[in-house]
Amino acid sequence: MYALDDLETEVRKSLYFAGPDPSQWTPAREGVDQIVTIVGAGQSGLAAAFALQRRGIKAFIIDAEEEGSEGVWRLRARMPTLRTPKERPGPELGVAPLSYRAWYTAQFGDDAWERLDRPSRESWAQYLTWYRKILQLKVNYNTRLERIDQHGENLKLTLESDGQMTQIVTRKLVLAMGPSAGGGLNVPAIISDNVPKQLCAHTNDIIDFGALRDKRIGVLGASASGFDAACTALEAGAHSARVFCRASDLARGTRYRWADFPGADYFHLLPDSDRWRIARLYLARGNHPPATAIARAKAARGFSLHVASPWERVEASGDEIAVRVGDTDFTFDFIIAATGFRHDPRLAHYLKPLVGNVALWKHRFSPALDSHDPVLENYPYLGDCFQFQELVAGQSPCVKNIHVLNTTALLSFLRIVGDIKCLGFASERLSAGIVRDLFLADREIHVRTLSLPPIDELTGDEYKELMTHLKGAGTSSA
Ligand SMILES: Cc1cc2nc3c(=O)[nH]c(=O)nc-3n(C[C@H](O)[C@H](O)[C@H](O)COP(=O)(O)OP(=O)(O)OC[C@H]3O[C@@H](n4cnc5c(N)ncnc54)[C@H](O)[C@@H]3O)c2cc1C
Repeated sequence: MYALDDLETEVRKSLYFAGPDPSQWTPAREGVDQIVTIVGAGQSGLAAAFALQRRGIKAFIIDAEEEGSEGVWRLRARMPTLRTPKERPGPELGVAPLSYRAWYTAQFGDDAWERLDRPSRESWAQYLTWYRKILQLKVNYNTRLERIDQHGENLKLTLESDGQMTQIVTRKLVLAMGPSAGGGLNVPAIISDNVPKQLCAHTNDIIDFGALRDKRIGVLGASASGFDAACTALEAGAHSARVFCRASDLARGTRYRWADFPGADYFHLLPDSDRWRIARLYLARGNHPPATAIARAKAARGFSLHVASPWERVEASGDEIAVRVGDTDFTFDFIIAATGFRHDPRLAHYLKPLVGNVALWKHRFSPALDSHDPVLENYPYLGDCFQFQELVAGQSPCVKNIHVLNTTALLSFLRIVGDIKCLGFASERLSAGIVRDLFLADREIHVRTLSLPPIDELTGDEYKELMTHLKGAGTSSA
């Protein structure tokens, strides 16, 4: 077993052997503060920053949270272990000593790795902190993106930090703000219209479970997050937690397994009709809770699962909420919506000034009547490196400089962008595309530079004595 210090030496050696990162190659532009800005220092933002660094671009990274609270793992995820198997490559991007496995075995040894079933949530969060530090990815914490405006071909960002607003101009923008950033939390109107805020929460909220002691909890949605929230509440002393879903059974498997091979990285090149049909099938059923979440529910006293039980009426009165399901009335003290996220850029406040010119799927593809889908049609129609496309060409070309690293990319790529197993695919594709775009945007400068005469590496003295001038021969150089 090595210590973490030894592993860190090995990481530095691997990066050294791989060769230095290219130096800054994009020409300076007047009035531009940053070449690439990444919003979000969760795992997607960090992996993207590393991939860009290896292509000679140092991104400016911001996160709204304070250091240690970024990402979902410490404050929003509630399962003891990840759902991702331990062997899956993550954000190491081929640098083996940077992997979770290397980090884990350095500290706990190979036997512990063999015994490990899945990474614990806390250890994954610690690993990401280590990853950020060893790669020296500087994050500007407590800095929130509030608004994006057009600034010529670039983007003007309004950032809030400690109550102060600042503006910066960036050429490229990567939105790595997590699953809620693509349109917000999906809270059904039956809850948001009828239940006061203090009596309900969404699974993505930071919930004070201690305050739910002895309470009766109703959870709408039998996803993994629904199970996790119900169990966390029970483990914190809640009286009972009832989980409800519309379907007559839990999903037992996931179609995403079929898309788990390298060729499917090119899904985006399929005809729109295939992409629509397949993504629709994949999204028709949410992910099932893993076996570990079900075992946890069985061990928790007071857990019950109600299938085929859509909520028909919800009414709050005083501190209680009455929920009608079929012929049965339930009374709860607190409700948790495990109902996922919205995927519609028009709902994201920070995009308001530009979103009118962002192409959605409904603008580019007309499905047959029987496969019309009012949710899917509002997903953004993304380009090959997750960039928005203009609805009307030439109206605000800067929208193509906004790259979206979140789950709204699903319809275009059939990948759950943000998931651990997708980090390599997403960050490599994104960074290669950004490099291409920047090179082409600066093509006049690059063409000029590429046409410059070479810089002499020889003085001529080195080969003087080898030269023989033949009588009558020309003087032109070969
Ligand atoms: C409860 C839960 C459990 C999950 N479990 C797994 C799992 O086991 N395996 C797996 O592969 N995937 C899992 N996922 C899915 C996915 O891996 C996670 O959502 C993952 O955290 C996504 O990483 P990310 O970097 O894209 O976003 P996040 O981790 O959400 O990070 C986004 C960051 O953006 C910042 N941010 C947001 N808005 C702004 C703003 N306006 N300005 C500045 N910063 C902002 C946030 O503060 C945050 O730090 C889970 C997701 C959830 C919600």
